[in-house]
Amino acid sequence: PLVLGIETSCDETGVGIVRGHTLLADAVASSVDTHARFGGVVPEIASRAHLEAMVPTIQRALDQAGIAASDLDGVAVTAGPGLAGALLVGVSAAKAYAYALGKPLYGVNHLASHICVDQLEHGALPEPTMALLVSGGHSSLLLAPDITADVRPLGSTIDDAAGEAFDKVARVLNLGFPGGPVIDKYAKEGDPDAIAFPRGLTGPRDAPYDFSFSGLKTAVARWIEARRNAGEEVPVADVSASFQEAVTDVLTRKALRACRDEGVDHLMIGGGVAANSRLRAMAEERCAAAGITLRVPRPKLCTDNGAMVAALGAEMVARNRAASAWDLPADSSLPVTEPHVPAPSPH
Ligand code: ATP
Ligand code: MG
Ligand code: FE
Repeated sequence: PLVLGIETSCDETGVGIVRGHTLLADAVASSVDTHARFGGVVPEIASRAHLEAMVPTIQRALDQAGIAASDLDGVAVTAGPGLAGALLVGVSAAKAYAYALGKPLYGVNHLASHICVDQLEHGALPEPTMALLVSGGHSSLLLAPDITADVRPLGSTIDDAAGEAFDKVARVLNLGFPGGPVIDKYAKEGDPDAIAFPRGLTGPRDAPYDFSFSGLKTAVARWIEARRNAGEEVPVADVSASFQEAVTDVLTRKALRACRDEGVDHLMIGGGVAANSRLRAMAEERCAAAGITLRVPRPKLCTDNGAMVAALGAEMVARNRAASAWDLPADSSLPVTEPHVPAPSPH
């Protein structure tokens, strides 16, 4: 199926077009530079930026794909989770396009999209799919027997998300926003064993699939503060590398344990933090050693984009899932267990 996907859950206006598992277009306009000086995404600014970028980005995607909008089999859109005002812009645009074109509308889950996007890279997802979802707002281990209908959380973070920890540590180091890419860059020049930062929830009695990154974030902040108070220079590269090592060590260890416990022979990693070069390398090493096939999309498909929404929408069409209603709401806290928002069935 030929599907256009619209993503506006945060600060990226993304429009992607796919035909089944084939990526035809991936247009992204980001307002991240506007937010950078505030040290985080400002919801109201994000909504306005989506409004301005929406139509040109859709046009750019259609041009890139070289298709006519009338050929589409459906229009998919992120219905949640995310920033309410930002989501509303995408949902409204998707309704308008779908209705005007006379095509079905599919409100889909942003988190399931972060997983389904891998079909554009590595073909059909195995069933069940074991996924480590690590992003700015979420960190979970998910087992999905069917990415369009059945996604089961095995465990999640009990405090900060992995991406949030990257962003907060970058802020303490005065490296700007977002923190992930810049810490990734500094870490390449640092020693990952320079500082022994804590690995949260890895004790024998801790929940095996839950994560905790707020203790790590505090430990890093305290370590930096002690250096500063002593009038010593902060070794940014070593702090970055050691912090990043602590995060990726816990993520990969728990993901591999979940694969082993559930008897799954592959691991999918998705979400913005899956763009991290050390996480990718460590997962590759550890999966290879454990005989597990690793599936991670290219970095550009890990961070927010419209192609991932189109990928999940195409799967909805392929599996004859019910379309959404024309009054589809934006749901800022749509649970990961709801991969899409079907129209209520008539009684
Ligand atoms: P969610 O998907 O939970 O709704 P989001 O959509 O805001 O959150 P994503 O775009 O999926 O988040 O990911 C953004 C996060 O990924 C940010 O926290 C950012 O710092 C992090 N990130 C991006 N690139 C990297 C990288 N190379 N290394 C580590 N973290 C990264
Ligand atoms: Mg973003
Ligand atoms: Fe995301």
